[in-house]
Amino acid sequence: MGAVLIHQFNDGTLHPIMHYSATFNAAERKYPQIHKEDRSLVFGLKKCHYYISGRHFTIHIDHKPLLAIFNPKNGIPLFTAARLQRYAITILSYDFSIEYINTDSFGYADILSRLIANHVKPDEDTVIASIQLEEDEDLKINCFTVETATKLPITFTTIQTATKAYHTLNKVTFYSQNDCWPQKKKQITDNEVAAFFQHRHHLTIQQQSIFFGERIVIPKIYHQQVLEDLHNGHPGECRMKLLAATKVFWPNINLDIEHVVKTCDTCAIASKSPMKCTPQQWKIPSAPWKRIHIDYAGPIDSNYFLVIIDAFSK
Ligand SMILES: [Zn+2]
Repeated sequence: MGAVLIHQFNDGTLHPIMHYSATFNAAERKYPQIHKEDRSLVFGLKKCHYYISGRHFTIHIDHKPLLAIFNPKNGIPLFTAARLQRYAITILSYDFSIEYINTDSFGYADILSRLIANHVKPDEDTVIASIQLEEDEDLKINCFTVETATKLPITFTTIQTATKAYHTLNKVTFYSQNDCWPQKKKQITDNEVAAFFQHRHHLTIQQQSIFFGERIVIPKIYHQQVLEDLHNGHPGECRMKLLAATKVFWPNINLDIEHVVKTCDTCAIASKSPMKCTPQQWKIPSAPWKRIHIDYAGPIDSNYFLVIIDAFSK
């Protein structure tokens, strides 16, 4: 990874102030690409801290998904993985705007990653500290994984086993772990795998299970069981979706939830009267008799009156 701190003078000329580069440690090398990019960003910010803290600056990155995650205008998306959330807390304490730069025009930072073979390895103390940190982090992830899974109607081991046994999820695991998703969705022949394509940047593999942010991906054979559990007590569509959004995921899970609620009589009876909508005013017609409103009034003394009102003249 590499980072360059550049000062832009008022006349627009650029002047590099500092160059940094470093290698990923053993644990970091196993990170998915987005986590690596993110790690590099945090690294760059920390190195340049004295120059950028408290000032407004611009970050140039060549990795589009990060742009969406760390755009200070949007805040951190809820479904961002735990590790990215922690990075985000560091990153968002700076005052910055973020811009995407095409990799081809990114030579000034890219060259540093390529010169890495000549780079002096960090001293042993640093390495040990960082390994310990990683172990801690894995511990946290483990705790979190187990915590999520114990709240489900099926055990974490069953999800692990089913994930391994299910060819679609095998493929998803392979793509995510090796960061080798095809460039385009249509290149994926298996429709079930393709359904994960739009979510690929938020998928991580932890203990042989797939996570979408903090939500565990449920193998197909348990979809019905999980839906039944979410539906327990007929909480209604919104509540079911909310529950799912904190714990479980599969592509189109929301459509499945909608289907469960639509086909449930108890939910239909319990659902409130139709949604309120704000009254819309009729358009004012341009002339008399352009539009008339007609209705029966009554019964008045057992008679009905047909009332016609011209919308323009009233
Ligand atoms: Zn119901």
